[in-house]
Amino acid sequence: MNSGVFRSRLIMGIIMAVIALFSYFSKMQVNPITGKRQAVTMTPQQEIATGLQSAPQMAAEFGGLYEDQQLQDYVKSVGMKVVNNSEAAKSPYQFNFHLLADPQTINAFALPGGQIFITVGLLKRLKTEDQLAGVLGHEVGHVIGRHSAQQMAKDELTNGLLSAAVTATSDPYNANNSTAIAQYVGKMITMKYGRNDELEADKFGVKYMLEAQYDPAQMIDVMEVLKQAAGGRAPSEFQSTHPDPDHRIAEIKKALAQYNKTGKLEW
Ligand SMILES: [Zn+2]
Repeated sequence: MNSGVFRSRLIMGIIMAVIALFSYFSKMQVNPITGKRQAVTMTPQQEIATGLQSAPQMAAEFGGLYEDQQLQDYVKSVGMKVVNNSEAAKSPYQFNFHLLADPQTINAFALPGGQIFITVGLLKRLKTEDQLAGVLGHEVGHVIGRHSAQQMAKDELTNGLLSAAVTATSDPYNANNSTAIAQYVGKMITMKYGRNDELEADKFGVKYMLEAQYDPAQMIDVMEVLKQAAGGRAPSEFQSTHPDPDHRIAEIKKALAQYNKTGKLEW
């Protein structure tokens, strides 16, 4: 390929990368609860609306709502106890907790804006209310951390940079190579962020357990339950983008040791 074509591709690629980065940084907002600067694609109101809109489909994916109103109410009461004793109560989000009928899937998840779900498959493996509070507190942490809206902004950045890299490096004689590299880079970016979000949600979970007078050490039991469950088919909270349970346990222990020593949680 002649150098003029190469140079113009490179310049085009650089321009595309600058646009992608500019667009990403223009989405920067200060999280009102955590004080952390983060790029997010939605306003809190949009997060709430998106979560409410997708909640019924999400529930349908996991066998719909579990048909035992008493158990539904119990899950909701534990979730609301966690919310009402923490900073989450001061957030604009509308929290609600749903028990899903899927007995096989061992999972819990949060939609942006406060709709939180746990499968009956996971609930049945938990032995105490404290452990349930730990699972729900972790999910509340994903909402407060605005992890979905943040992940969307990151995905947009990744896609923008990928196109830029492909444009800059594409060589008609060696197209596969540059695409593979670009894809690898994109994957690494996404993976790192996913792991950090999980660890942040764990820390929120521990903090919220403490504030609601639950035993925070039982967050470790939750990790053990998930670790055992992952022995077979890995549940989605624990797929490749997530840190492995042993690493999470080590981080939780570190946070608890710090709390026992200083009386506060800082991270
Ligand atoms: Zn999580």
